[in-house]
Amino acid sequence: MKGTRPGRMPRPSRAVDASGRVCEVPDCDTRLSRYNARSRCWQHTEIAFPSYRGRRLAPDA
Ligand SMILES: [Zn+2]
Repeated sequence: MKGTRPGRMPRPSRAVDASGRVCEVPDCDTRLSRYNARSRCWQHTEIAFPSYRGRRLAPDA
């Protein structure tokens, strides 16, 4: 048989409903919690972690 199997098919559209959001990164299917207001999963969220180390306490002089 030939030509019956499609090659690489693009992913079927992800069923994203109100309660099943996934990361907006195309290759990421990580589901987002409904409580997660972000549009990306934690792995792709650029979080500016507060750095308690380093120059946080700038000398006021
Ligand atoms: Zn992600």
